[in-house]
Amino acid sequence: MPDQTLDLSEQAILQNSPRMDLNTRFSFRCGPAMDCFNRCCSDVAILLSPYDVLRLKNALRMDSSEFLGKSTLTMRSQDRHIPAVFLRMNEEMRKCPFVAESGCQVYPHRPWACRMYPLGMAEPKGPNAAAQRLYFLVKEEICHGHGAGKDKDQSVREWIEQQRLDPYDEMQVPFLALMSHPGWDNPENNLTEQKLAMYYMALYDLDRFRRFVSETRFLELFDVDEARIEAITEDDEELLEFAFDWLAFSLFQERRMKLRKPVGGAPAVAATTRRICCPTV
Ligand code: SF4
Ligand code: SF4
Repeated sequence: MPDQTLDLSEQAILQNSPRMDLNTRFSFRCGPAMDCFNRCCSDVAILLSPYDVLRLKNALRMDSSEFLGKSTLTMRSQDRHIPAVFLRMNEEMRKCPFVAESGCQVYPHRPWACRMYPLGMAEPKGPNAAAQRLYFLVKEEICHGHGAGKDKDQSVREWIEQQRLDPYDEMQVPFLALMSHPGWDNPENNLTEQKLAMYYMALYDLDRFRRFVSETRFLELFDVDEARIEAITEDDEELLEFAFDWLAFSLFQERRMKLRKPVGGAPAVAATTRRICCPTV
């Protein structure tokens, strides 16, 4: 199950695989009866989204820091050094840590890439990207599922529904918006190592981010209403949505957070200072 979105330019996709849309039908079958069962769970690069990490660490009842340390690898993008999190394969066998003879041990919480396979997806950068999504089939020798079903078994739309991708896609929208933000290319934003570490913590190390919000001066600096504080205290999805708002504010000065006013009027400090981005320092 190779990562299906990294390093695949639209041109390469168009050259090598026919474009598909939501109504395109394809023939594919998978399951324990296949002679290739589980082969796709070894030696693969599975990029994890923040929502993938949230689902997996909760399914495994692990603290996010523990999950990230045990089950993931972090790499940096070449150009902007943005952290990207991958599932860590078992070192000797190069197997996914969650595969057993009977199949995936985290199946109801498996990552987006595992749900989509053998479909890949690409979308252009910029506004309205979701409307311009295109899909394509990933065909690998190890996988014998292509053509193994009835002729044109299902449409892309039906596959996405069967794989219960909706909550993943919903959380992917603000994540992709952050990833493709034009502010990454603006040198004035001064995206230091410290800010990138904050980006990693807020998106992936959610339990630590929750402590950061509640145990530092964060809530003295930002005006967050009581209902939202309660929601982010109890609910990881709410916390992740809060993280998207905070990162858009602290990395790119989007007005998605409100600063508290000190007694006497003017805002506490300028929005772009290190103090605001990182209240612990
Ligand atoms: S998470 Fe599950 S489906 Fe995905 S590679 Fe691991 S064992 Fe396979
Ligand atoms: S059919 Fe493909 S996806 Fe299904 S188990 Fe075999 S290799 Fe994996």
